[in-house]
Amino acid sequence: MKLLLVEDDARLIESLRPALKKAGYVVEWADNGIDGEFLAQEEDFDGIILDLGLPQKSGLQVLQSLRAQALETPVLILTARDSWQDRVDGLKAGADDYLGKPFHVEELLARLQAVLRRRFGQLDHRLQYQDVELDLDRQTASRNGGEPIQLTAIEFRLLRYLMLNPGKVLSKTRLSEHVYEEEQLRDSNVIEVYINRLRQLFGKGFIKTLRGQGYRLGQQ
Ligand code: CA
Repeated sequence: MKLLLVEDDARLIESLRPALKKAGYVVEWADNGIDGEFLAQEEDFDGIILDLGLPQKSGLQVLQSLRAQALETPVLILTARDSWQDRVDGLKAGADDYLGKPFHVEELLARLQAVLRRRFGQLDHRLQYQDVELDLDRQTASRNGGEPIQLTAIEFRLLRYLMLNPGKVLSKTRLSEHVYEEEQLRDSNVIEVYINRLRQLFGKGFIKTLRGQGYRLGQQ
């Protein structure tokens, strides 16, 4: 899952990025409102963490502008003073949730997961597709209710993205964007290797290849 973090506090970014990465998110960031808005429009993010107090263009203006362009990406806003007015303005402008600074990283992760879960229509910490179940907290999978299968970070991200988009054809490029953090690793051919690894774990028919288009969960 790919997140956009728009925040001008370098120390906060430094502390958030490893935590977000560990939780399985690919993170891009911008340190001002103009760049943040541009990235949000240009790239396909699953969620946005948006500080309200930003240089060049305030987070509230960015959010209003994105919503006016019908961009529906879930947005979690960060408010510096935790004032009720900021929170009301943010929610009115189309934020999905808010968090007052300072906050614990665990709370950010929990709220983020709740926002994303609502957006993707999940009810709990598990995703299910056919006989495969993915535990989002433990980052493990199981088949037919069997023993948990350990996944590497990339296997987990890939499987989660596929399971959040069942029935959709996902191109190699799109998958690699949502799975790799580092730009230089985004050789979309490597995705094939991981797709095959998931097939070994969950059965050949679990992921279908559509020549020239990409991959989709299931055979149909
Ligand atoms: Ca700020």
